[in-house]
Amino acid sequence: MDWETVIGIETHAQLSTVSKIFSGAATRFGAAPNVQACAVDIALPGVLPVLNKGAVERAVRFGLAVGADINRRSVFARKNYFYPDLPKGYQISQYELPVVRGGSLSMLVKDGEKTVRLTRAHLEEDAGKSLHEAAGNAHSALSHGMSGIDLNRAGTPLLEIVTEPDMRSAEEAVAYAKTLHALVRWIGICDGNMQEGSFRCDANVSVRPRGSAVLGTRCEIKNLNSFRFLEEAINYEVRRQIELLEDGGTVAQETRLYDPDRRETRSMRSKEEAHDYRYFPDPDLLPLDISAETIEQIRSELPELPQAKRERYQNDFGLSAYDAGVLTQSRENAEYFEDMVNRLGRPAVKACANWITVELAAAVNRAGIEIAQSPVSSEQLAWLIVRIDDGTISSRAAKDVFQALWQRENIAVAVLSAPRPSLHSSVKSAARDDIDNIIEQLGLKQISDTGALEDVIVQVLAANQKSVEEYRAGKEKAFNALVGQAMKATKGKGNPALINGILKKILAR
Ligand code: ADP
Ligand code: MG
Repeated sequence: MDWETVIGIETHAQLSTVSKIFSGAATRFGAAPNVQACAVDIALPGVLPVLNKGAVERAVRFGLAVGADINRRSVFARKNYFYPDLPKGYQISQYELPVVRGGSLSMLVKDGEKTVRLTRAHLEEDAGKSLHEAAGNAHSALSHGMSGIDLNRAGTPLLEIVTEPDMRSAEEAVAYAKTLHALVRWIGICDGNMQEGSFRCDANVSVRPRGSAVLGTRCEIKNLNSFRFLEEAINYEVRRQIELLEDGGTVAQETRLYDPDRRETRSMRSKEEAHDYRYFPDPDLLPLDISAETIEQIRSELPELPQAKRERYQNDFGLSAYDAGVLTQSRENAEYFEDMVNRLGRPAVKACANWITVELAAAVNRAGIEIAQSPVSSEQLAWLIVRIDDGTISSRAAKDVFQALWQRENIAVAVLSAPRPSLHSSVKSAARDDIDNIIEQLGLKQISDTGALEDVIVQVLAANQKSVEEYRAGKEKAFNALVGQAMKATKGKGNPALINGILKKILAR
């Protein structure tokens, strides 16, 4: 039997507000337990929630960025369930009327462009955390078989983003998650820190015979906080479901957890239905009304989005889909690239893209950092290209300069927002001095002095009469041998274009 995988993803993105969604307590990560939980967060009787405007604005920004409808009126609902880290006994969420409806996200996958439709995005509060392990002596009780409750996270604003069941492989699911992750950071609504739980995915997975129009029964794998776990969990789950079905069994709709150590998913609980939660509109909160002006204001403040930028780089700059993809992986990547292009001009676009996607990307990957933290600034890299262009160094030597620059941690990183003088103006430039000093120190300067090269070449020709005769007899290969000898005589520093020209001129005499 040929099986088809079907995946829908629910993502919880923690919104980057300073305070919580319904209280004034701080949302900063890593504080000592319960120091950032106020009366509202710990659900003291008689307290009332007050909605955080910043959370609403971020939700609207997201909706506009994915081309969704913004509901001018949405409603907060109580989702009732008991959990030790949920002191109210219910979570404030949105149910029938979410703030964002529809929209879509497009991404590059192996076979081209894939579009995933979004169902909705709604605002809700996070729960607290149960602590089962002793974390230092502050929680000594935990080392005696007890659990602790930390309510610092309770009330942290979340945007839950839900897709239609549009993905057909773990690869597509990961591409979607990465694209969404890049987008929420791009528009500044979420810091995207997956280790701290700021961005976590639930994967709903089912299989069906290929060609079937009905969906199979799904399992939901909760709280996947890395792209690798997302991929592994889905692949495991697909295999498990296919084996079950091929053995004549049925898939039970349930919630499962992924165990990265054992690389398998495990049943957590049978799946509850929406009616189990007894949703009803929260009487403590008025419906959320968002004015058309507010929406237009937020729209006008949106930056150019990654997809638009990616298309512009391909169409206007003639870059490959791959290069355009790397350069728009984050806003910082795009800023780095655009800063170089602003300095060097349009003719240098390809060179800028190449240096970023090849040399810089490799160095950044090796160091496990982002381009934004690169010790080589966009201004320095631009100067490096200038020095190749004006014949000071060869492209080969430029790689050595780049490596030397990368390793010199004391070189100040140019601030991207600093004024950008044109490269050819006489303005003093620390970045240019950095490049020129390294070229000098490493002795990489090309010999571009025609007179000096002519002297060398005359000697080379005298010492290689055989090659000269072969060349004159029509053997093209002999010419390359002479270029090679001339390069050798200049210890690799002769400007190859000049050597070529001079050789041709002398041999034509
Ligand atoms: P709930 O809110 O109970 O988790 P929803 O019906 O809202 O359930 O669906 C949640 C997610 O599961 C959505 O992303 C949806 O696309 C996905 N989904 C629903 N049915 C299936 C299925 N049969 N296979 C895979 N994904 C599914
Ligand atoms: Mg769900």
